[in-house]
Amino acid sequence: MPAVLARLDALSLPVRTSAVRRGVVACTGIEFCNIAVTETKERAKNIVNLLDEGVKWSESSMFRVNVNGCPNSCGQHWIADVGLQGCTKKVDGEQREHFDVFLGGALGQNQSGGPRFNRRVKRVTAEEVAPSIQRVIERYQTSRQSDESFSDFCARHTEEELAEML
Ligand code: SF4
Repeated sequence: MPAVLARLDALSLPVRTSAVRRGVVACTGIEFCNIAVTETKERAKNIVNLLDEGVKWSESSMFRVNVNGCPNSCGQHWIADVGLQGCTKKVDGEQREHFDVFLGGALGQNQSGGPRFNRRVKRVTAEEVAPSIQRVIERYQTSRQSDESFSDFCARHTEEELAEML
């Protein structure tokens, strides 16, 4: 078994990895999907790399970041801790990639009960997505109640409060 794990590590396919790397999902995105309005896979990689470096994860936790290049939700952003829905917005006369950020989805059981959909909180530029997510996770880690889940933390804040944290 250790040999298999070492081989997978060498192929950049680590099994023992952070909560966010284990949980990330990205749809096909603009590279191969005709409907997409944003790039997704490189974006997801950049988000994971930033959060891997900047956030202290507990080994047993799981954190879902699901990235979609349009509202169709092939990457199921509605049930993620952080769901991202690609869109475009005109800035200085040019269409630029943005993402609507949804926070607080959950699967299975959580402290408040069953699964829940996340809520749309804010639209940010593609460049701002990763640092915005880092900010809200840091806020969660410093001000959560006891062993409160991220979903429950989001549920006890209004959308305006969450938007301020991003
Ligand atoms: S969510 Fe949209 S962009 Fe992503 S694969 Fe599905 S249709 Fe394409």
